[in-house]
Amino acid sequence: MSQKFDELKQQEETLLCRTYGRYPIAVSHGKGSRLYDFDGKEYIDLLTGIAVTALGHANEEISQVIEKQARKLTHVSNLFYQEEQLILAKNLLSTAHFNKAFFCNSGAEANEAAIKLARRYQQRVKMRDAYEIITFTGCFHGRTLATVAATGQEKFQDGFSPMPEGFKQIEWGDLELLEKTISPKTAGILIEIIQGEGGIRPVTETFIKGIETLCRKHGLAFMVDEVQTGLCRTGKFWAFQNFNVTPDILTTAKALANGLPMGAMICTEEFSQGFVTGSHATTFGAGALVSAVANKGIEIMKRDKLADRAAKLGKQAMERFKKVSQNCPGKIKEIRGLGLMIGIELTFQGKEVWEELMKQGFILNLTQEKVLRLLPALTIDDNDLELFANALEKILKTK
Ligand SMILES: *Cc1c(COP(=O)(O)O)cnc(C)c1O
Repeated sequence: MSQKFDELKQQEETLLCRTYGRYPIAVSHGKGSRLYDFDGKEYIDLLTGIAVTALGHANEEISQVIEKQARKLTHVSNLFYQEEQLILAKNLLSTAHFNKAFFCNSGAEANEAAIKLARRYQQRVKMRDAYEIITFTGCFHGRTLATVAATGQEKFQDGFSPMPEGFKQIEWGDLELLEKTISPKTAGILIEIIQGEGGIRPVTETFIKGIETLCRKHGLAFMVDEVQTGLCRTGKFWAFQNFNVTPDILTTAKALANGLPMGAMICTEEFSQGFVTGSHATTFGAGALVSAVANKGIEIMKRDKLADRAAKLGKQAMERFKKVSQNCPGKIKEIRGLGLMIGIELTFQGKEVWEELMKQGFILNLTQEKVLRLLPALTIDDNDLELFANALEKILKTK
């Protein structure tokens, strides 16, 4: 490792709170699906900062918008009317059946907004004393106190008690148990269409449709957390559009402004009644700069039909990975995903394989200890995925 890397590692340990286990790479710059460290070593980025830079690093069109907007207006707060924010809202809402948007700055905040909206809708519009949100094992909804409570995993809650009340978690996929868990206190159900941190676990059509049916039957908010799955990644603009369902509330963030922090909660007219002036707010939400960038990003996604591209490339890649699996018997347990959100579950602890891939210049994530998680740019070259498949095959053959 270079001196520069050692220097940064040392500084990180001295200066920053110890919250992150970092990869042994210090990134200097990037372009498209390539990242470079300070020694000039080139990496193929199959992770995109955890599904964030979906249009690639240093995207030329995005960079131009950043530069232009930065010289015009960056932020004035939500005390003012801002054109950029409204252009974005129109563009974003045109992607589905939703009518209204609330902008914020991250995935966790988007989920906070959804949870607050579901509760307030029940309590102030429906006049029901309902507050409980039901989530599912293996989920991930963020790191604020409420979203950590929703996430329900001990490792994220350790030392932070007491957790906010009003969250119930049940087994993923169990509709019978779900119906039994619903009570007069239930306000809504929150689910990822494909669990990301949970190891790339897609819902089944039966499961998600069953959830919708139960929400309608009991008057609950049907909420989908598309922070990771949204914005063309799964082969549709939103992952729920792969199934024949219409959620009431959707959250998005990660890829929304291609690397600038931004989140949004979008909802139907009906549920939007849950908020009135003063109900909820954020200082930064949808400032002119991030809004202009997000708007350009969505424009590019639509113009270049990146959802279709993700579907096509993802299908190709999954087929190729299945060949890898056949060529390396006993090594791969399952290949899962939709579009360019792909998990390759190994039959054994994946740390060594993951490290070797990184050494060979492939950046991806290992989740649930055995799942190689791929979240490449929607603009990635298919040859990059082929290079990765070749490298993986070679490594697996030695294991
Ligand atoms: C990343 C993620 C979040 C949290 O987003 P932050 O921007 O880190 O707060 C929430 N839900 C899902 C599904 C995610 O993948």
